[in-house]
Amino acid sequence: MSQRPIYLDCHATTPMDERVLSAMLPYFTEYFGNASSITHMYGWEAEAGIKKARETIANAINCSPEEIVFTSGATEANNLAIKGVAETYFHQGKHIITVQTEHRAVLDPCHYLETLGFEITFLPVKKDGLIDLQLLEKTIRTNTILVSVMAANNEIGVIQPLEKIGEICHNHNVLFHSDGAQALGKIPLDVLRLNIDLLSLTAHKVYGPKGIGALYVRRRNPRVRLAAQLHGGGQERGMRSGTLYTPQIVGFAKAVDLAIAEMDWELQRQEQLRDRLWKQLSELDDIYLNGHGTQRLAGNLNISVAGVDGSALLLGLQSIVALSSGSACSSTVTAPSHVLTALGHDESLAYASLRFGLGRFTTSEDIERVAQSTLATIKSLRQGRVMTKIP
Ligand SMILES: *Cc1c(COP(=O)(O)O)cnc(C)c1O
Repeated sequence: MSQRPIYLDCHATTPMDERVLSAMLPYFTEYFGNASSITHMYGWEAEAGIKKARETIANAINCSPEEIVFTSGATEANNLAIKGVAETYFHQGKHIITVQTEHRAVLDPCHYLETLGFEITFLPVKKDGLIDLQLLEKTIRTNTILVSVMAANNEIGVIQPLEKIGEICHNHNVLFHSDGAQALGKIPLDVLRLNIDLLSLTAHKVYGPKGIGALYVRRRNPRVRLAAQLHGGGQERGMRSGTLYTPQIVGFAKAVDLAIAEMDWELQRQEQLRDRLWKQLSELDDIYLNGHGTQRLAGNLNISVAGVDGSALLLGLQSIVALSSGSACSSTVTAPSHVLTALGHDESLAYASLRFGLGRFTTSEDIERVAQSTLATIKSLRQGRVMTKIP
C-alpha cells in the first residue's frame, strides 16, 4: 500500500540526481556570497562557481559564456526572448510566427503580444507533429521579426527540424527562437550548426534543480538585442536583474554535464525500454502512437486508446504508475490537449490518451510492470469492468 507508484512523468519534471545535489550543497552554506560583491572573497567564490557553470552550459550548446543569461527556468526564458524581441524590434515589424503545438510558456506570451497590437501566426503541424517547412517559408513576410519553434515537444516528444528552420529564418533575416526545455541533454543542441538565435533552457527536466534555467542570446551574426523584462541591479548584462542564485546555477551546470556525458548510451537504453513498452501495448487493437514514429525523444511514448474513458484509465493506473494524460483535465471537463488536437485527430475526444515519460532512473522491471498493468487495465475497462486493484 505504502509503495509509491513508478514515476513515468519525466516530461513534467525529473528527480534531482544525487550528484547534482552534492555539487550544490557547499554553495548554500559555505560559498554563500553574492556574486556581485567584487570587494571580498565571499563574492569571488560565488562568482567563480557561476563562471565555471556558465562555461559548462555554454560548451554544451556551443556558444560563448557571455551569451548565457540565467533565468528562473524556461518559462521566464521564453518570456524574455519573445517579449524582449517584440519590444526591441517592433519598429521593424509586428509579425511573429509560432506553432500551435508550443508549450503555454510560448503561446501565452504571444497571446499577450496580440493584445499590444502584434500579429501572431500560429502554424499548424502535420499529422506527425512536424511543421511544414514550405508553409513556414511562405508565412514569413517583410514585417516578420521572430519565429519561435520548440526543439522537442513536451507531450508527443516530436523533434522539429531545427537546422532547416534556422536556415529559412536566416535567409529571410528573421530571428529564430527555440524552446529547448525538453531537448537539453536529450538531443545534441549546437546553436551555431542549428542556426538558433535564442534558446530557452531549464534544469529540472534534466535531473537538475527547479527554479533555474537560461536563455542563450546570440551576440554575433546577428547580434540579438533584448529589452529586459526585469529591471534592477543590472545583472546578466542588464538583461535579467536579480542576485544570481549560485547553488541552483552550479546544480544546473552539473546536471548538464552529466546529461551530456551520459547521453549516448542513456538514450539508447531509454529508447529500448520505450520501444519495448510500445511493442507490448500495441498488441491491443485500436491503440495508436501520437506523433512522429522516429523523430522523437527517446523517453517519450504518447498513445491514444479507443473504447476506454480517459479518466477511468488514469484512475485505474494511478496506484501503479505516475503519468500524465494527453488531455488537459481542467476542472471537471476532460478536453483533448491542444497538442493532440493540432495533430488533427477528429476522434481525439473519443480516445483516452496517455503520456509515458521515461527517464534516467526508469528500469526494465518498471517497464515490465507498467506494460502489464496498462494492458490489464485497458482490457478490463473495455470489458466494462472497473478495476480497483491490479496484481
Ligand atoms: C517544462 C517546460 C517549460 C517550462 O519550464 P519551467 O522551467 O518549468 O518554467 C517550457 N517549455 C517546455 C517545452 C517545457 O517542457
